[in-house]
Amino acid sequence: MTKRGRESEPEIKNMLVSSSEVTKRSETISWDDYFMSVAFLSSMRSKDPNTQVGACIVNDQKRIVGIGYNGFPRGCSDDELPWARHSESNNELDTKYPFVCHAEVNAILNKNSAGVEGCSLYVGLFPCNECAKIIIQSGIKEVVFLSDKYKNSNSMVASRKMMNMAKVIYRQHIPATDKVVICFPSIE
Ligand code: ZN
Repeated sequence: MTKRGRESEPEIKNMLVSSSEVTKRSETISWDDYFMSVAFLSSMRSKDPNTQVGACIVNDQKRIVGIGYNGFPRGCSDDELPWARHSESNNELDTKYPFVCHAEVNAILNKNSAGVEGCSLYVGLFPCNECAKIIIQSGIKEVVFLSDKYKNSNSMVASRKMMNMAKVIYRQHIPATDKVVICFPSIE
């Protein structure tokens, strides 16, 4: 077959297509890419200037039962609490750490189901030890993460240790593409 012949083939097919020949789209994103994208979309709500993390909890029916992103607790003003990671005076109270709620915790607390037992949690960053405790206690059975960039910190070592003991499965997701683009005008 010539190159030209290959190129013209879809055109002819489109002209002759009958309803029984219409097939499903093949370029949809995978479930893993989809739920990770939902977690990342949620992270776009975060006011944290350094780290935006989102989480998405999914049940065994592939239904989303909770979404969250990192932020200060409800009623605690973004304008009055510090977003800094370091304090010049070495005072922890001048940093975000004592105040911020991580995405995983918010996703669990925001759940729209009775519980999250047996669910999977999709999150941009491997969960810290504080989140790991809550993930385990809530009954989440699987963590799907994208980045493990703080892997060697004490917090992550403790997190893995607890998740291993509690038999929470964790796996890194490698997305099919670097970008998922949302184009609003494409609906037209
Ligand atoms: Zn955490």
